[in-house]
Amino acid sequence: MKQDAATMTAPAVRVRFAPAPTGALHVGGARTALFNYLFARHHRGAVVLRSEDTDLARSSVESESAIQSDLRWLGLDWDEGTDVGGPYAPYRQTERHERYAVAAARLLEIEAAYPCYCSAEELAAEREQAEARKLAPKYSGKCRLLTRAERSQLEREGRKPTLRFAMPQRDIYVEDLVRGSVHFPPDAIGDFVILKSDKTPTYNFAAVIDDSDMLISHVLRGDEHLPNTPRQVAVYEALELPLPLFAHVSMILAPDHHKLSKRHGATSVAEYREAGFLPEALVNYLALLGWSPGDDREFFTLHQLVELFFLERVSKSPAVFDLAKLRWFNAQYLRARSPDERTKLFADWARSDGRLETLPELSDATWRLAMTDALSDHVELLSDVPRELDALLSDPPLDERVTDALNDERVRQMLTDIARSAESAADAAAFEHAISKQSLQELGDRYGVKGRALFRPIRLAVTGSEHGIELPLLLRLLGPKRVARRIAAALAAGAHARQEQLRSG
Ligand code: GLU
Repeated sequence: MKQDAATMTAPAVRVRFAPAPTGALHVGGARTALFNYLFARHHRGAVVLRSEDTDLARSSVESESAIQSDLRWLGLDWDEGTDVGGPYAPYRQTERHERYAVAAARLLEIEAAYPCYCSAEELAAEREQAEARKLAPKYSGKCRLLTRAERSQLEREGRKPTLRFAMPQRDIYVEDLVRGSVHFPPDAIGDFVILKSDKTPTYNFAAVIDDSDMLISHVLRGDEHLPNTPRQVAVYEALELPLPLFAHVSMILAPDHHKLSKRHGATSVAEYREAGFLPEALVNYLALLGWSPGDDREFFTLHQLVELFFLERVSKSPAVFDLAKLRWFNAQYLRARSPDERTKLFADWARSDGRLETLPELSDATWRLAMTDALSDHVELLSDVPRELDALLSDPPLDERVTDALNDERVRQMLTDIARSAESAADAAAFEHAISKQSLQELGDRYGVKGRALFRPIRLAVTGSEHGIELPLLLRLLGPKRVARRIAAALAAGAHARQEQLRSG
């Protein structure tokens, strides 16, 4: 039987998603959250949602709850977190300072950490020197060597120290479940700050203490954090804490193969929601960014993803974000919704648009279904609905293509008949019958026009365009009044154009 990393090494799977609440949930973060969720649910494990709010100036509770509602919108949930509590609370780093203070005191005691009195200017000068010598910036470690007397002297001068972790001078191997063994040589990493001078912790320190306290078994995160991992491993080892297993997921690239960023368009989950993407489409698409089921299946519900998700199938190579593909997924998922659900979504999106909110037809259930039938094959995103509707419901310009199409007497007769039967239709069913494909074909037969010659002028007269929604569905959506009025306007424009031609000609 196939066994994967989780069942082999640790029976109790506990993962965490640990966003900094400093802004919106990015698609990359959502993908990390999703993978954590899938992995934990697959192994009947626990999901912890931790708020890494150590950046006091940029963190906010608003952003924390916005991230949570975006995650919920995607259909993800968690077992422990700032909102739902849990046995390892608090789950907000700013509320855990005591824990960091205890761990820091321990590191000081065993001399795995030391106070650093270097000022910001001194550190900047050090960095400049390193750059000038084309060396990677790395703290020199000079405060590591201070004697007790020198430290007291600096304290008396009023210098407020940071606390630095004394990085061991040895090779560090990060055993990564996705990337294999990753080697960091002894001199790669300088001593790094774990407590700032105001005693607040840095990410690399707080994350270790929290992951350890919260019994996290697997740390699954974006590979931008891979350079942090040897630092964290060294802290675990200094404190003699058991290491979690690490899995670094490759980053998401834009089609130009640069890191996906704002300049490539929408990057936050909220922007996708507001653009009319469905959560199930986004989840399905994000799951395939860096993971595959091992065959060519592409459609998965969240439930199926939970069943199928193995870390072994997470790819090392970066995934490329393809908006066209996501839109395509969305169109498929829109069509997969029941007609009733789709109608509700379409109507809600139409009503949310200032140009359409008072459209009387929206309160007519039959018309709403006609709207769904007409638009379903023509929208990829829900935000296409109000745009398409608005375009269809505004009277079209009557240009030469329209008037030229009416240069045939038979066509004009036929249009006149359609307008007449639209006007005289006793009810919706009668109108629907009059504009059915069969009735239109019979009408065409009567006047000796068929196929494109039959449908093109009708479409041009009522929409001003040559392509689009299937004609009977389109006419049903426009309704008898609009159809009759637009045909009359097109015929009048045609007559006017012909007169002009005679006059000039
Ligand atoms: N707060 C970090 C971030 O948002 C979390 C990194 C981690 O998962 O360790 O990227």
